[in-house]
Amino acid sequence: MNCCILEESSLLEKVINNHPSLQQLLEIFDDIHAESGDRFFLVGGFVRDILLGVNSYDIDIAVEGSIDRVIEYVNARIDSDYIYYERFQTATLTLEDLKVDLITCRKESYDHDGALPDIVPGTFEDDIWRRDFTINALAIEVSQKNTYLLCGPKQAREDLSNGQVRILHERSFYEDPTRIFRAIRYMCRLGFEMEIETKKSMIEAIENGAPNKVSSDRIFTEFCRDLSERAAFDILLAYREWNLDQYIAPGLDLPFKLKDDLVMLDKLELRFIEDTENFDPCELRLLAVFHHNYSKAQVFIEKFHLSKRFSNMLLSMEKLSDKIMRADSGIKNSQIYDHFLDIQDEVLLTLYVCTDVMLVKNIIERYYTKLKNVINPVRGSDLLKIGVQPGPKVRELLNEVMIAHLDGIIENREDALKYVEIRLE
Ligand code: ATP
Ligand code: MG
Repeated sequence: MNCCILEESSLLEKVINNHPSLQQLLEIFDDIHAESGDRFFLVGGFVRDILLGVNSYDIDIAVEGSIDRVIEYVNARIDSDYIYYERFQTATLTLEDLKVDLITCRKESYDHDGALPDIVPGTFEDDIWRRDFTINALAIEVSQKNTYLLCGPKQAREDLSNGQVRILHERSFYEDPTRIFRAIRYMCRLGFEMEIETKKSMIEAIENGAPNKVSSDRIFTEFCRDLSERAAFDILLAYREWNLDQYIAPGLDLPFKLKDDLVMLDKLELRFIEDTENFDPCELRLLAVFHHNYSKAQVFIEKFHLSKRFSNMLLSMEKLSDKIMRADSGIKNSQIYDHFLDIQDEVLLTLYVCTDVMLVKNIIERYYTKLKNVINPVRGSDLLKIGVQPGPKVRELLNEVMIAHLDGIIENREDALKYVEIRLE
């Protein structure tokens, strides 16, 4: 293992200065190290991104020592929440402005290709060599305050500068084929190339069907992460180029419009739909992809055991888009209301983004701004009071009133009652 004084220590200092809670955490590490000799390393994506000058808020820290001790100290000294996974010897700390994953240094082995790894405690070096690519195997030792060392495989720093994705050992893609999908993600996200031997190894693993050995859940997880990338569309194209689409959804139609749709979903600010931040970003992106590929959706849903809820959303999106594509500008409010009432917000939102028909966008906006929250000006009990007999007639009249209200024929309760009285004559 090659370790050197971190020449870019000023970069790290800048990051630390921007995050007071990280500063506090490093002070705790300093104290623990002085007391017990435990060692602490920033690792993985956070280090990669610091060196690339990219902002990163997810911090991975490898601990060569006891995670319990870290939690004990953090609890006593910082305002934080944590979840401790004792069995895996990992913990997630939520500090003021940061999420920190702590992991006990480990050694991994694979019972068979594609299996989840067997884990035993290990040294920091073991923990580095179990990682996926050199660019993700860089670490900064932060055991002692103000002495930060950049460590990692010999090639790693150079690979990062040269934009190369390189595996750490020959069987890497076989042991964990999710790394094939991860490699593509980093290439597309960072604009990196694949190192030549790594490329050969990946082609061979794909040709030998290595991804078949991984559970569909794990492939789906990688796919969802890919869809949330800014470069999602390029990743989908790369799947096809690398013959990987067969493991996800073969023969997807990828019109250029989808690229814009995925970008739009990413920076969506629709003032008229509330709580969009509670939507599952993966679901929205899947809806966008399959809006262009309804005929491929069923196989995908079955393959990845997607929920009934998702499959219903897709079905209602298909039916609805067919209906509103045929609408003309004279469509009435009550018709829009009727079409949309039982449709999930996620579907309407995705349809709004994915359609390039202005009328459809206008209709969806009209629904949210003018119709969705309209309340019937009368209730069943009002109708009974003016002599409507209990039974199906009540619902029928309430519906009629609602339609007339939506279409501006009835304005208020008074109008509504008059309307019903006339209907009763
Ligand atoms: P991102 O910015 O996408 O989160 P990341 O590098 O932080 O990138 P994570 O998936 O969050 O990636 O994983 C954190 C680190 O764990 C990686 O940098 C890598 O060192 C290691 N890692 C994750 N998945 C694997 C894997 N399948 N095989 C080996 N190492 C992995
Ligand atoms: Mg990460």
